[in-house]
Amino acid sequence: MDLYEYQGKRYLARFGLPVAPGGVADTVAEAVAAADEFGYPAALKAQVKVGGRGKAGGVQLVADRSGAVIAAQDLLGSVIQGHPVNRLWIERASWIAAEYYVSFTLDRAARLHLAMVSARGGVDIEQVAAADPGAIARLEINPIDGLSPDQARALVARAGIDGGAPESVGDVIVRLYRGYIEGDADLVEINPLVLTSSGEVLALDAKVTLDDEAAFRHPEWAEFADAEPDDPRERSARSKGLSYVGLDGSVGIIANGAGLAMSTLDVVNDVGGSAANFLDIGGEANADVMADALEVISSDPRVRAVLVNVFGGIVRCDDVARGILGATGRVALASPIVVRLDGTHAAKAHEILRPHLSDRLVLEPTMLAAARRAVEIAAGGGR
Ligand code: GDP
Ligand code: MN
Repeated sequence: MDLYEYQGKRYLARFGLPVAPGGVADTVAEAVAAADEFGYPAALKAQVKVGGRGKAGGVQLVADRSGAVIAAQDLLGSVIQGHPVNRLWIERASWIAAEYYVSFTLDRAARLHLAMVSARGGVDIEQVAAADPGAIARLEINPIDGLSPDQARALVARAGIDGGAPESVGDVIVRLYRGYIEGDADLVEINPLVLTSSGEVLALDAKVTLDDEAAFRHPEWAEFADAEPDDPRERSARSKGLSYVGLDGSVGIIANGAGLAMSTLDVVNDVGGSAANFLDIGGEANADVMADALEVISSDPRVRAVLVNVFGGIVRCDDVARGILGATGRVALASPIVVRLDGTHAAKAHEILRPHLSDRLVLEPTMLAAARRAVEIAAGGGR
């Protein structure tokens, strides 16, 4: 599980990582209130799970309240690399004297933890690694031994961090390692860790990936899941283990394989319809999976027709056909279903479905014909 910057900062602050005090805001009014509270100059930062926000205009420094209003209006509702900005983190801006890079991650091949530290922070670390690999000091850490303050100081020195505060950078690194270990993270990355003009060391950014396998001993992680955007359809699908994306159209789509699901979306668009969702049932199409999929889709009031498009390979079409019949027996479906089944055991599948066909369960021979039919039904009101 990846955390937002603000979650990562709060998480690591519990282990003593120094961060500037700040708060979150979902509206312009909240953003201004937060900036007023934590003081000017303020940094307003888009909370999206993607790097390079600085370059994309997702980090804005403002001198006063009117600047905060403009920045918050600009950021909230914008889209950064495909990620909509619904929340901001606001903190008192820091005067930066130097920007460093620090990360801990698991080196699976070596079965050790890997620390990376560089005096060249604030920029794209992949570029530093490519152009000047010597600028990144690495240390493999045996989890049994841990990281001693002496080792941390040596690492900092090796990274060429000397101006001002090598001692406290070492301290911060030891605390960050503790947060990484005791916090059950797979990755913690602070870029930049800064030295402020007043000699303080602060984490200005935080990227934290928690180890999902450790969730059982962290009931407090539930708060991170709760902070996810609330599409009830996606939540219900997630709880059933389905890979589902909710959209705005009226044709519900179930397909096996992401490629086929996307093609189905395109064909539905091509014949003048629009998809209500994207649902990939993957390699499993038994009655349970089908029932779950149909239940999720048909609980969406936007859906007027459901299009099941399965190409049998390892999945056998006759199993899918039985799955559909089993599901329609279990779930009260609000909309008609149009089915296209081709590939392994397709003929047998058609035979199984034939006695049950009606205006609520339609079989079409091709993807195009099925898409046309589903769009036609959806346009006619469907349910
Ligand atoms: P990222 O681009 O998504 O990694 O976002 P960061 O949180 O790392 O911010 C990008 C850059 O914005 C940083 O490297 C800093 O140079 C700058 N920045 C962020 N917060 C502050 C701040 O409080 N003061 C100043 N002067 N610069 C900041
Ligand atoms: Mn950063």
